[in-house]
Amino acid sequence: MIEDPTVLRRLKRQVLDKGQSVALALEKLMNGLDVRLEDLGAGRDFESERDKRRRLRKLLDQIDRVVKSFDAGTFGTCADCGGRIEDDRLREMPWTSRCGACFQKAVREGTL
Ligand SMILES: [Zn+2]
Repeated sequence: MIEDPTVLRRLKRQVLDKGQSVALALEKLMNGLDVRLEDLGAGRDFESERDKRRRLRKLLDQIDRVVKSFDAGTFGTCADCGGRIEDDRLREMPWTSRCGACFQKAVREGTL
């Protein structure tokens, strides 16, 4: 569990930055420009434009919830199983909402 306030502040900053990148990508997409989801770590690029928009909106919602979780003191809680998300995983991509096991399960079941 990550409790160091300095680290938490840095991670929150990263989540906010990520939110901005995703919002910008969504805006580009809405303006008919092509966006590479892979660059955002948001999925594969053979998805249709409609799928891309849906994927980005979902990611934005997720990021929004993670931003709020910092203030609520629940940052690092898996949205699916309620367990702790691994510290390494949070450091690598603090905007994640699932622990490693639940993420793998979501990928397998196509519910990401
Ligand atoms: Zn989980």
